[in-house]
Amino acid sequence: MPLRLYAATTSAGKLRDFRTAAQAFSIALDPLPGIEKIPAPEEDGDTFLANAATKAVYYSRFAPGELVIADDSGLEVDALGGAPGVRSARYAADEGLVDSPDANDNTDVWNNMLLLQKLAGIPPALRTGRYHCTLVAARDGEVVQIADGTVEGTILEAPRGSGGFGYDPLFYLPQLDKSMAEIDLETKLNLSHRGRALAALLPLIAGETNC
Ligand code: IMP
Repeated sequence: MPLRLYAATTSAGKLRDFRTAAQAFSIALDPLPGIEKIPAPEEDGDTFLANAATKAVYYSRFAPGELVIADDSGLEVDALGGAPGVRSARYAADEGLVDSPDANDNTDVWNNMLLLQKLAGIPPALRTGRYHCTLVAARDGEVVQIADGTVEGTILEAPRGSGGFGYDPLFYLPQLDKSMAEIDLETKLNLSHRGRALAALLPLIAGETNC
């Protein structure tokens, strides 16, 4: 029987990334059925792992016997001591600039504006950072596998490109001379934190399933 995974996310951007990566492994990946009606758990952990595990364990209880994956990801900027980090989605909300990350379609715009403001005056060479993704697979409320992925880059002084989501227009990939919002989905998956975490997780899951 082909392996099937459910992704515990309501983010269209993340789902698109997950699906593209899973296809490369011939794995069927669908959103967790009914996820939009399930109250979301609190994401108040101090680490990507704590938040990803909370989500995977919680949502797996809504799909008995199935493998459910959840990620926690974010942008770590060295000049900001690793911020926004686990608070990436809520960066502007934490400063009271938007009500809540999910209630406002302009959240990404505000997050990006805040990041630019915090980095004002910092020269390009010191604007280094990375996207980090921790992925957790769970079944029936138990963690089954964990994997991480990162991608290094620098933070631009103005947005570039219209693809991607979140901080992508500000995240510059020196090796491609492009922002993350200027590359196609397949390229993004090959080098992105989420793609790398998936590429690490999927073989682990395939091995676990064969046992
Ligand atoms: P969470 O993983 O849903 O808690 O949110 C992670 C947040 O980090 C997102 O809302 C984005 O702001 C940011 N983020 C994570 N991955 C990406 C990415 O691939 N591109 C752009 N922003 C990202």
